[in-house]
Amino acid sequence: MDRRKFSKNMLLSGMAIPALNSDFSLKSEESGEFKEASRKLPVREFDVVVAGGGTAGVVAAIAAARQGAKTALIESKGYPGGTVVEGGTALHSYFNLWKAFPGVEKRQVVKGIAQEIIDRLLLVGGTSGHAEMAQRYEYDSVCTSIDTELYKLVAFEMLSEAGVFICVNTLVTGAVKKGTAIEGIITESRMGREFFKARCFVDCTAYGDLSAYAGASFVEMNDHPVCNSMGLGNVNIERLYAYLMKNNAVGDLAFGQRGGRNDAIVRMGSEGGYLIKDKLPKEFVEGISKLGSGLITTTVHDNYLMFIKVNYKMKVSPTNRDEVAKAELIIRQNQLKTLELFRKYLPGCENAFMARTSPSLNIRRGRTITCDYDITSEDVLQGRHFEDDIMAYGFHDEAPRLQIKNGGTYGIPFKSLRVKGIDNLLAAGMLITSDFHAHMSTRNTVCCMGQGQAAGTAAAICASKNLNIRQLAYSDLRSALEQNKVYFES
Ligand SMILES: Cc1cc2nc3c(=O)[nH]c(=O)nc-3n(C[C@H](O)[C@H](O)[C@H](O)COP(=O)(O)OP(=O)(O)OC[C@H]3O[C@@H](n4cnc5c(N)ncnc54)[C@H](O)[C@@H]3O)c2cc1C
Repeated sequence: MDRRKFSKNMLLSGMAIPALNSDFSLKSEESGEFKEASRKLPVREFDVVVAGGGTAGVVAAIAAARQGAKTALIESKGYPGGTVVEGGTALHSYFNLWKAFPGVEKRQVVKGIAQEIIDRLLLVGGTSGHAEMAQRYEYDSVCTSIDTELYKLVAFEMLSEAGVFICVNTLVTGAVKKGTAIEGIITESRMGREFFKARCFVDCTAYGDLSAYAGASFVEMNDHPVCNSMGLGNVNIERLYAYLMKNNAVGDLAFGQRGGRNDAIVRMGSEGGYLIKDKLPKEFVEGISKLGSGLITTTVHDNYLMFIKVNYKMKVSPTNRDEVAKAELIIRQNQLKTLELFRKYLPGCENAFMARTSPSLNIRRGRTITCDYDITSEDVLQGRHFEDDIMAYGFHDEAPRLQIKNGGTYGIPFKSLRVKGIDNLLAAGMLITSDFHAHMSTRNTVCCMGQGQAAGTAAAICASKNLNIRQLAYSDLRSALEQNKVYFES
């Protein structure tokens, strides 16, 4: 078949054409398939293996190891952290939304290992602390900004201190099952292919790679843009703030720890086109909205703005490698155009430069894995708690339009972390919850960390008692979590 016909057939069958540059495109089926020879792999044995060392995975591995489980963490990048050090603006949220509900008590509802990370960051000047929002607190009452580089270091140290066997630059590429349980997973690194056996596994890969390899069912919604966030250096934050204030274009605002002061701006947002429309130069407003860029920023350092997001909506799911390659290029081009607009139109940014970008694009969800329970919008918005709660959570990314009832919390049930149909696989992070509006809450960083602590703890208990994840007594999990400072509402 000639290349033209082949491409047409691929399009008709719904498959994207894998062509960035025609020289590299797949050849027709004449090139056939390559049959890989079977080979013997070295085996490593653990009690618990956590796949993905990101927001949830770091916490899951620390929790499992602290329970006494021999734990391995497999992370494809060279450092732990994941999207929390690459995508977001502030860690949402350790607190309930008390400021938006007069008379409601301020409560820190996520503690445990998630709070320990903040305590460690405070020691090295790597966070704003929990800075109360001075404006737009009906979205989040607190802003907790982080230094992304120090977060990586702190996460690394905490994993190491807990005794986790840390495998960075290592990709999970497959799973081998025995009946309805995973026997082991296959990894690739510069040390070659290896087989990691364990009694219990936790999928924290964000995209649900491990669950998909293990045959779990999933959906790919593709209902969010992909994004790369950049940090801008050489910004005069106070001049920028004065300009935005003068034009009545400041929404989010918080003062906290920055450059040795306790009362410096750590969050400044002109969120959405609605706030800056007719207030800032038309060319700027139209330019950044066309580029998918935002003006919500956080910082913990003088002269530095973190997390200028540049979004791009892909037509196909971001599990399509070749379309992602195109998106990566387009987003980087758009980052430069965004920077040029900032330099030209925003006082204080005249000499700004791109100090960092995320190593690869991020997404708010890739695959959503089917678990024993799928948290609904009703559960979240009505503030429901379950008989098997593993944490309480009180933030919604669509607030104030959608809020948790009365500034309260809802519970994440343990059953929502159990991957359906598999005896020894838990999931934690942005990959649970298929309902769009429920996911707009459960996917946020602090919720992912809390889920990670529960999943890691549960995996360790199951491994030590040789239990299937559905045989675990809730009372055992709950008391282990309480002993490790996890907060429960009731
Ligand atoms: C653009 C953007 C902005 C956001 N803004 C905010 C915000 O302001 N505040 C907030 O609270 N939340 C925000 N979020 C949401 C939040 O950051 C994420 O939902 C959350 O961090 C996801 O955590 P996770 O543990 O599920 O995944 P991740 O933190 O992404 O961790 C997954 C890890 O798995 C690794 N991995 C993946 N596949 C494999 C594999 N096959 N083998 C080995 N390792 C693998 C990855 O390298 C990564 O380290 C934002 C998200 C995005 C995308």
